Amino acid sequence: MEIEIRGLRKVYPGGVVALEGLDLTIPPGVFALLGPNGSGKTTLMRILATLLEPTAGEAYVAGHDVRREKGAIREMLGYMPQEFGFYPSLTAYETLDYFGLLCRMNDPKERRSRIEQSLANVNLGEYAGRKVSTFSGGMKQRLGIAQALLNDPRVLIVDEPTSGLDPEERIRLRNLLVELAGGRVVILSTHIVSDVAVTSEGMAILHQGRLRFSGKPAELLGRLEGRTWIIDIEEEELSRVREELFVTGVFRSATGMQVRVIEDEMSHPGGYQTAPTLDDAYVAAMNQEVGSVGMG
Ligand code: ADP
Repeated sequence: MEIEIRGLRKVYPGGVVALEGLDLTIPPGVFALLGPNGSGKTTLMRILATLLEPTAGEAYVAGHDVRREKGAIREMLGYMPQEFGFYPSLTAYETLDYFGLLCRMNDPKERRSRIEQSLANVNLGEYAGRKVSTFSGGMKQRLGIAQALLNDPRVLIVDEPTSGLDPEERIRLRNLLVELAGGRVVILSTHIVSDVAVTSEGMAILHQGRLRFSGKPAELLGRLEGRTWIIDIEEEELSRVREELFVTGVFRSATGMQVRVIEDEMSHPGGYQTAPTLDDAYVAAMNQEVGSVGMG
């Protein structure tokens, strides 16, 4: 069960190039698409969900072509868009009932059983009868995921599920996606690096429609092994250090400032080595300090 993407390109009417010939293999498990706003994550997800036609290139979901086998893909795929509209006056159950009817789950008994299963999957079982207007942001996101789970999909695609959530809700949602991944492909997009670290078996970094990295988070970190350093500096030194070294983060310390830098050899006096973080790796990938690579 895999997703294969070869030379995928999307140019929107008007000429915006959203994807620049992407090659990517997405294995089962949780896969994070990481990148700043506008890097092409939504475009890629909508193409995989057969909601958008690519301009060129190919993509296969479990061997099915996104252009020619839309029906087969839709049967096995659940999609939660970034902007998910709810009717606030409906209950959670009624919301899913409505979506179930929309995707032609006509058998009432089966529909009920799928709705109950989906609500249980996202831990909303006991809130089935509550109006959506009373839900927190995290509960609404989980209801959105329940909607995407109605057809028990083998591929679940969720666009920016953690955006707008507070830290506790974010962690909860992250854990939920890991639970749902058993045997499924779960693709989530995010611009928040810390969403990736713990959850994802695989990840890809997009930048302006191009792939900057794909592989395991640990592989990305491995590329910076022995190359990340902390330097204690005075505040006045910051602009000079920024010019001379590749800075990935700046922090206040009790005595002044600390900067994290990536260098093969530390030339600055007082620099000491530290373990790379995914934040370092992300900043580096955005600036091509780790080299662009495929998953192999
Ligand atoms: P992300 O999900 O990473 O924020 P998107 O896939 O939404 O990125 O957007 C990638 C690029 O394509 C951006 O430059 C965006 O402005 C552009 N874009 C997205 N949707 C459309 C559209 N319907 N028409 C024209 N340009 C679009």
